[in-house]
Formats: sequence, C-alpha cells, structure tokens
Amino acid sequence: MKDGQEIVIGLHRFEVYLAAQEIEKRIEALAETINAEYAGKKLLFLSILNGSFMFTADLLKKISLPCEVSFVKVSSYSGTDSSGAIKELIGLDREIVGYDVVIVEDIVDTGRTMDSICKSLKDKQAASLSICTLLDKPERREVEVQVKYIGFSIPDRFVVGYGLDLDGFGRNLPDIYQLKHTEHA
Ligand code: 5GP
Repeated sequence: MKDGQEIVIGLHRFEVYLAAQEIEKRIEALAETINAEYAGKKLLFLSILNGSFMFTADLLKKISLPCEVSFVKVSSYSGTDSSGAIKELIGLDREIVGYDVVIVEDIVDTGRTMDSICKSLKDKQAASLSICTLLDKPERREVEVQVKYIGFSIPDRFVVGYGLDLDGFGRNLPDIYQLKHTEHA
C-alpha cells in the first residue's frame, strides 16, 4: 500500500489502496494457479468490459497455456452507486460449446452482473464456467455467485483505477484508489 497519494475526481477525494506492484504480484499468482488448473483444456477467457480491460491484459500476458479471449460489454453503474439493472451493450459473438470458460471481471459487488452473465451463458454448453475477479466486496453481496479466483477481497468502499472508473474517469490509473471523502456541493 502506498501512503499519502491522493487523487480527486469531481467532488470525490481518493487515496491509494492497492499499489501497482502489489496488483502485479497478485495477478502473477492468479495466473500461476490458472496455468496449473487448465492445462490440456480448451480455454476461453471472457472479459467483461469496460472495467476489466486492464486486468484482462495483464492476466493474459501471464497465461502460458494456449487460450482464446472474447469480450462482452455490460453496464450497471452510474456515479458511485449501482443502478441495479444490467444492460448488455455488446453481446457474446461466438460459440462456447466445449470450452472451459473463465469470466474475467474487475469487481464483484452485489453479484448481479455475474449472476446475469452466468445465466445468459448457462445454455451454451460450455464444458465449465468459472469467475475470476480482481476485486471482491463480499459485504455487498445481494445475489449469491460462485467466484473461483479472487485477487483481493476488499471492504465496502468505492474504488477507482486500474480499469475501474468514476463517471468515465480514473480507468488509466495504474494503482487502485479508495474513496476517502466526498464534498457536498
Ligand atoms: P455488481 O453487479 O456485482 O453489483 O457490480 C459489478 C460491476 O459494478 C463491476 O463490474 C463494476 O463495473 C461496478 N462496480 C462495483 N463496485 C465498484 C467500485 O467500487 N468501483 C467502481 N469503479 N465500479 C464498481
């Protein structure tokens, strides 16, 4: 964890919570586990845009197995609050029959997004379906989902950086920041 580094997005002040080196180390460990568990399988990573683009890129660079990657795009957030409704903006454009599918997500919060995606893939005859998330907020769960790989389990505070945004900003930051304070206009 880095101390003393803050950023401001709109009325929100954030402090560094997970530094880039810490994230990189954890992703290496996740990739090592996946490399060991999926050897010999027909492996497809399904990246959930937008938030997981950076995690997907870094994770996949550490995967040493033959694999494929595909993308779907969903949205559920506006500001620092989930709208609850999952909108599919770009759907799955390929067959997944017989593939061991690993869904790559930035953060599992209420669980609604993962639940909705898993339900939509259920009848597509994948050999297996697993979830790999960089961040997990277990306190926020409203819908139960099985998450096989978790980078970091974190408390219930809004985060940005490393792919995660606040109203479109912050995705480019290499560290992950946690909300510290919101000014009231
Ligand atoms: P869920 O459907 O599990 O409630 O939320 C999943 C999605 O909400 C994530 O893919 C992410 O886009 C967004 N989300 C949840 N918590 C946070 C957070 O703390 N920060 C940001 N930037 N997005 C979040």
